Amino acid sequence: MPTAPGRWRITALDTGTSVIEKSVITYLVDCGKMIRIPRVMWVLEGETTIVVDTSVPVGGKPAEFIGEHFERSREQEPLNALKNVGIDPKNVELVLLTHLHWDHAGNCDLFPQSRVLVQETELRYALVPGKFFRKSYLSPLSGWPHPPYLLPNLDTVKGEVEIRPGIRTLPVPGHTPGSQAILVDTDKGRYVIAGDAVFTYENLERDIPPGFHNDVDHSMESMEILRRRADHILPSHDYTIFSNGRVATFPE
Ligand SMILES: [Zn+2]
Repeated sequence: MPTAPGRWRITALDTGTSVIEKSVITYLVDCGKMIRIPRVMWVLEGETTIVVDTSVPVGGKPAEFIGEHFERSREQEPLNALKNVGIDPKNVELVLLTHLHWDHAGNCDLFPQSRVLVQETELRYALVPGKFFRKSYLSPLSGWPHPPYLLPNLDTVKGEVEIRPGIRTLPVPGHTPGSQAILVDTDKGRYVIAGDAVFTYENLERDIPPGFHNDVDHSMESMEILRRRADHILPSHDYTIFSNGRVATFPE
């Protein structure tokens, strides 16, 4: 169904499951409890087709490198997940990366004809990350020679930018220095794909910052910015958005 100018439809694809310790999601809360979280790719359809975040690299080796238990079925492989909702990567004009962590920027090579955009601050940090974060960026400094996002079609934006009518980048530092959320106007108000500024609804409901961050004060401020700027916040790793299966659409 076509959308009005400047209005978009959002599709979330569950492209795999990680099993992680919950305090990574909710800072210092529920330490030792293991939970399952989705690895999500988002598709925006309106005047063109946009993908937001590209999930864990095909093949799963980076998960071993990171030291994380990761599960992905054949249908959840990124190309199959896209095909399942009728998306051919050749028709994806833009790929917006919320940040460059391994589980969000993993399959940019599947989109050689797309323009891939990330905040300049994020790219600069990813190239020389703090020591604690080197593995998360699949950085050459941690022994991973080819970060998957370092491709000729990668380009940068600075700050809040209107990408297309109804689509804006919004800096939300805290999880990483150059994290950005993506504001998306729909027929039912403004949604925001929060990236890892919000892992789960519990972060928002209990005002608990994500447990993985380079600046916890910025993390708290960014959650506040998202509450102010959007009618609906879509967290990055919450299985409640997939209560009806591996594909979720917004507005619902
Ligand atoms: Zn992240």
